Formats: sequence, C-alpha cells, structure tokens
Amino acid sequence: MGGCTNRDEPKIMKTFFSPRSVAVVGASTRPDSVGRAIFSNLLFSGYTGIVYPVNPKAHGILGVRAYHSVWDIPGGVDLAVIIVPSTAVPGVLEECGEKGVKGAVVITAGFKEVGQQGLELERQVKDVTTKCGISLIGPNCLGIINTDPEFSLNATFARSMPRVGNIAFISQSGALGVAALEYAHEQNIGLSKFVSMGNKADVTENDLLTGLKDDPQTDVILLYLEDLSDPKTFIEQAKQITGDAQHKKPILAIKSGRTAEGAKAASSHTGALASSDEAYDAVFIESGVLRVETLEELFDYAQAFASQPLPKSNRIAIVTNAGGPGIMATDACIRYGLKLAEFEEETTDKLRTGLPRTANINNPVDIIGDAKEDRYELALRSVLEDENVDGVIAISTPQMMTDLEAVAKTIVDTASTYEKPMLTCFMATEDISETLRILDEKRVPHYLFPEAAARAMANMAEYAWWIQRPRTDVRTFNDIHKDQAKRVLHRVKKEGRSFLPEPEAHDVLEAYGFPVLESRLVKSVEEGVTAAERIGFPVVLKIVSPDIVHKVDVGGVKVNIQTKAELRRAYKDLLENVKREKPDADIWGVFVQKMAAKGKEAIIGMNRDPHFGPILLFGLGGIYVELFKDVSFRIAPLRELGARRMIRQIRGYKMFEGFRGEPPSDTEAIAECLQRLSQLVMDCEEIDELDINPLIVYNKGDGAMVVDARILIR
Ligand code: ADP
Ligand code: MG
Repeated sequence: MGGCTNRDEPKIMKTFFSPRSVAVVGASTRPDSVGRAIFSNLLFSGYTGIVYPVNPKAHGILGVRAYHSVWDIPGGVDLAVIIVPSTAVPGVLEECGEKGVKGAVVITAGFKEVGQQGLELERQVKDVTTKCGISLIGPNCLGIINTDPEFSLNATFARSMPRVGNIAFISQSGALGVAALEYAHEQNIGLSKFVSMGNKADVTENDLLTGLKDDPQTDVILLYLEDLSDPKTFIEQAKQITGDAQHKKPILAIKSGRTAEGAKAASSHTGALASSDEAYDAVFIESGVLRVETLEELFDYAQAFASQPLPKSNRIAIVTNAGGPGIMATDACIRYGLKLAEFEEETTDKLRTGLPRTANINNPVDIIGDAKEDRYELALRSVLEDENVDGVIAISTPQMMTDLEAVAKTIVDTASTYEKPMLTCFMATEDISETLRILDEKRVPHYLFPEAAARAMANMAEYAWWIQRPRTDVRTFNDIHKDQAKRVLHRVKKEGRSFLPEPEAHDVLEAYGFPVLESRLVKSVEEGVTAAERIGFPVVLKIVSPDIVHKVDVGGVKVNIQTKAELRRAYKDLLENVKREKPDADIWGVFVQKMAAKGKEAIIGMNRDPHFGPILLFGLGGIYVELFKDVSFRIAPLRELGARRMIRQIRGYKMFEGFRGEPPSDTEAIAECLQRLSQLVMDCEEIDELDINPLIVYNKGDGAMVVDARILIR
C-alpha cells in the first residue's frame, strides 16, 4: 500500500476536504447547541482556513465576528455547514448558491426520516442543490472531518478529533459515527477522513469512494451502511479500489440489518431464498469488500490493514510463550481459513538449537513460560525467514519473569525487518499501557485474545487472495438462440400469463444451450405411449398445468416408468391425483420425459431484485434446499471466476469434491450452466424468477442435466 501523488484531486475531495473557507450557518452562542459545538470544533481543531459564523441575531460567536447571512461574508466561501431549522434549509442553500459556495454539509434533521412532509422538503433541498450546482452531504448527518494537517478540518459536533491516520470512515448513521470516532480515539486509531452521510440526498457512498480511491492520505476504507444507493455503481467503484486501482485499498463494510427482511412471498425457491441481505453479501463478495459484523471487528481488521504488509498467502506461524493460547490461536486460524505453516528443515534446526529442550519447535512454536525477549527474537526471526511462512502471530501472556516491554520492543524491531505481517496478542488484564504504547508507536497491531488476531490475519489473507485472483471475463455463448427463447416468452406474455409450465421453461433453456432431457407434451395416454417409445424407456410423467407450480405436491410426477403397461397405469394415476388435489387446475396434458440417470442434485436459479437486478443462486438441490439454505448468491452478469467461487462457497461443496472415495462431480458443468443462466437473464429482462431444481450433476467429465425448471415472467 502507500500513498500516491495526486494532482487531479477529484471534485468531491476538493469541495469537502480542502476548503479554504467555511461558513457555519446557524452557528450559535447557546451552550450545548449543535451550532456552537460545530463552530467550536472548527475553531479549535486547528483548521488552517477561515471560519465564518453566520447567525442573524448574534454579534459575535466565541469571539469571532458573526455575519447576518452568507451574503454578508466579505470573502469567498468554499464550504457551508448548515445547522438552521429544516424549513429554512432550502433558502440558505439558495443563498449559498448565489454566493458561489460549492459544497454544503447539512447537519439539520427533519427530512425524509420523519415522513412525507420531510420527504417533500428533502426533494426541495435536492432541487436547489441541482439548480445551484452545489454538492451536498446530508441532511441529517454528523458532519465531516479531514485530519490532514494541511487542513485539520473538523466540521462535526462529535466530542473528539481523531488522530491523524490512514483509515477513512464513512458512516450512514450519525450515532454510529460518533461511537466509531470515540472508539477510534480510545484505541489510539488514526483516521484520515470521516464522513457522516446522513440521508444521502446528494452525495452517496459511491461519490465518496470515487474521491477516496486516489486519496494519498487513505490506505483503508471503512463503511457503515444501511443500504446502497446504487448497487451496480458500487460494485464497479469498489472493485476498482480493492482490486484494480494502481494503489489498491481494502474496503471493510458493516451492513446492518442482516435478518431476512426482504424475502418476498415467492413461488420459486430462489425467490424465497434471495433476501436482500444475501444480495448485499453477493455485492460485497463481487467487489472485493470484506463484510464484518461489529465495530470491534471493523477496527481490529482495519488496524492490521493500515499498518502491516499483506501476507502472500495464508500460511501462518504462531509464536507463543504459553500452550493454551497457542492452541486457541491455531484453532481460530483453521476456522477462519488460514493454514499453519509447515516449517523448512532449516527453521526447525534453528529452533532446536536456540530453544530449550522443552520448547515446541513445530508450529505453533511454544517458547515456554520463562521465555525472555531473546527467545522471542530467535523464534520470530527463524519463522519470518522461512519461505513457507506468510505471516506471524506472536502471543505473550505475562509471567513473573517476562519483561513485557522488552518483548514488545523485540517484536516491533524484528517485524520491521521483514515484509511479512506481524500481529500480536498480549493477554494481560493488568495495566500494560507502556507495552501497548511501544507497539502502537511502531504500528504493530495488538489484540487481547488470539482469535481476534487470527481473524484479522485471515481477512488480510483473503484480501491478498482477492488482489492476486485470476481475472476472468463474462463469457458470451454463441451457440444460443435468443429469438427462440424470446418467442416463447413473448407468447406467454401475450396470453397474459406469468408462469411458464415445464415444457415452456424447457424450450427457453434449450434455446440457451442448457443440457435438457428429451421430452414431449402429450394429450392422451396413447400419445404418451408413442412418445415414450420414441424417447426410450425408462421415462417420467409429469403434469403440465399453468396452475400447478409444485408438481410433486399434487401427485403430479411419476418417475422410473419401465414399460408401456406401467405407463398406462401411471398416466391414469397421475390425472386422478391432480383431479383430487387440484380439481380446478387447467390441464394442458402430460410431459413425457426421459428418466435421467442418478447423480447429485443441485439447484440453480435467479431472482430479479428491483434494486440489485438479477440475483443468481446456487445450492444443494432436492427437497432440503429451503431447510438447510445451503446456497450462494451473485449478481448477474457472472464472470467465470464468480461462477466457480459461488460453487465452492456453499458448506456442502464437499459433496461435489469427491466425498468418502466417491469420484468428484462435474463442477465445470455447473459453472457453465450458471454462466448460461447469467446470459439468459441479462438478455431477457422479462424473466422475473427462474428455478432449475434439480440440476443433476454427474461425475467429472460427464456433465449435468436440467431435470425440472420453472420460469416466472413479469
Ligand atoms: P416439482 O415440480 O415438484 O419440483 P420435479 O419435476 O422437480 O417436480 O420432479 C420431482 C422430483 O422427481 C425431482 O426432484 C427429481 O428427483 C425427480 N425427477 C423428475 N423428473 C425426473 C427425470 N426426468 N429423471 C429423473 N428424475 C426426475
Ligand atoms: Mg423440481
């Protein structure tokens, strides 16, 4: 990581973070008022520009001459911070526009968050800013901070100005922003920029990401989000920053509201499973953004990213002076996807020679409770020099003979001579502030518990993988017949239906090159016999009705029919079942389908979300799909790597890998189906939901087969 020189500062950065003068409209003399807090923060945080308090009633504020309106300010104004009552905001903005102000931060609340009237007011605000060419942060926000000493701008009403650092924090919630600022302060974590976005009437996370991409002060970006203003743009922007920019920066995000709030009442499995939270997961995975759950995690990881080099891969060495924490760290490493490095012989030789006989010279290296700094040095150097080690976690639990400060000094000195990440864990409950200061000063992250260090390291390794990932494209299949698919969809639409029974879905998928079974729609038992003879036994019979979505539920599927006689019986049975279970259903006939060979059942599908677009799903199929919810999601269009990753991502992936001596499955065939599905739903926007369940997957090289499909159009 590291900065870069930045000649063409993006407009948003210039407007909000490099103003030469700031007007505080609604600055106040009243103690405990927001108008006073913001003004005094600006005044006393060392801002290098000029601050103008604006208040029609005050003569001066905190000793500074006040102005009646923005108009009265003698010089130019770059940025306005607005704290006036909500109904006065549009007027103030209008004045700012006339004054030539380029940016406004509207702190005032009482807009869309309070209902219809507020929404209307917010619309007015938006209109004024568009008309006047003002960029606006807020309304209903806490303000912004730029710690860069060249500006030292604190336009918030938070109590503390963060230390200078290389972490930017963007928060959609003001309250959470305050909590984050205080936490960072208390933990000695430095920030570069802070933005409370409020209602995002104008400036959104996407604009801020654009700005922070090349910000030389920022190496890590933290987001607290409640929604995404424009998921597609977010993916593009974030992906640029995390993976493709010249100076890549990790983005860590909390998205609150993990519960399945948005799951709509859907008739497809995919529709039922694809809640909006899964869509966020998909967005983050696709853009290389690391999603975390808590503020604590957010800053734990941020500190590691902000101060340590990335590991090349995920092979970790642990050096500890106590067995228990070493084992806990080991378990945590494995749980979070890291590997314990296997040392080269040279390393174990060095450890054997240098450490007492009772020490454990294998990973995790236990240098024993009476270890002094010399043992730490020997062990750390040995493992850091090992080619098989990508990163190190050093653990120290205080014992009578441990000089913690000396140990900390040794660790920071050793760490600084290698280009490998070093995270530490000092498991002390008494005051070890001097020890921690040594670590902070040399920017070696420290954690209270080994799991936290392991998780931070795992996130670094994951991000390192993302940066090095093979870049693939969205594959375009040329063997497809788009018109054929469109013709079917068009006909369904014309007939005023939204549900495509299996034969129609079968035709659409066949047109897009999916592997489908030979099948025929028949109207009578005799037609059925002829069709079965043409297809070849064994066959399957399925009811075809625009009113029946789940065929098995009404006794509408008969599998493994071996003879003509069996077929006649099954045909009769099938119709009787459906008559009984669903007497009013309009029956088109019966689908005679080749019986597919046995294999592993998977599901693939799509649910079109109004906000995110087509969300693709993959999971274990069959009857347990909604019970275990072992599925993964991506937003279309899907790249080749995305398809492979979404298959590997499910918990049950082992099923396809060759479990207990079984041969591995044809996951490449699944990946191809997913990519064809992506192309289909990108081409045909009328498709609202689509399920292929099951997709039967065969052994590697033998492909996969669509056995059932349903499509819903809008
Ligand atoms: P539903 O509408 O109830 O989902 P399906 O067409 O998926 O009906 O059939 C139910 C089950 O029957 C499938 O999950 C699959 O296990 C089996 N099945 C259906 N068609 C075939 C086929 N052609 N070959 C083999 N098994 C099949
Ligand atoms: Mg099915």
